[in-house]
Amino acid sequence: MSNSVYARVRPGRAPKPMPSLVTDELCLNFLNSLNGRDTAFESDFLTGGEDVVDFMRHAGAIDLPTAEALHHQLAGRKGGYTRLYKRAVEIREILAALFFCLRQDQAPAAEDVAALDGYWQEFIADGALVYDAAGFHRIWRPETAPAAFLLGPVIRSFFDLTAVGDWRRMKACPAEDCHFAFYDHSKNNSRVWCQMATCGNRAKVRRFTRRQKRRAG
Ligand SMILES: [Zn+2]
Repeated sequence: MSNSVYARVRPGRAPKPMPSLVTDELCLNFLNSLNGRDTAFESDFLTGGEDVVDFMRHAGAIDLPTAEALHHQLAGRKGGYTRLYKRAVEIREILAALFFCLRQDQAPAAEDVAALDGYWQEFIADGALVYDAAGFHRIWRPETAPAAFLLGPVIRSFFDLTAVGDWRRMKACPAEDCHFAFYDHSKNNSRVWCQMATCGNRAKVRRFTRRQKRRAG
């Protein structure tokens, strides 16, 4: 996979492949935990609940002590990792369906909106309203609601993106084994590839080889 990095997210553990973080938005980086979506090259960086916690650490959404505490808690609870993993993948695929539909200027499918609403309502119930420097907002505690704590911010990031984002800037890398989602922050909305160094460069090399072959032929 060209867009993976070996990340040592837990000290003392072997590094594991994680998706390159190609965009600022947590929700889009989370979508990219499935590489090559809807292609023959599809492969999943998330293979269990452990990977979900590690991804959030990799993405900078949680700090190391919180990640360690979550691992400890989920590993010690029967089905803890499995429940988290199931929710993570379901939410990711709902958000992916919505993202790829909205960016083509199509109305979201009612069943996807309803499915997302189901999770959002569950997470709202798991949270608590607090007032601090950021005003009123809902927080989730890792020790009582690990899934909401990890995945609630992903959904919130998606809401934020759809509230202020320009759909013409919501893009997917055209490399056929990638399809990573990103938000184009460039001044003239000219970004094409998830990363110039990987997918962009491979396309350049392919073009060059084709030209060489034509010349030789
Ligand atoms: Zn790419």
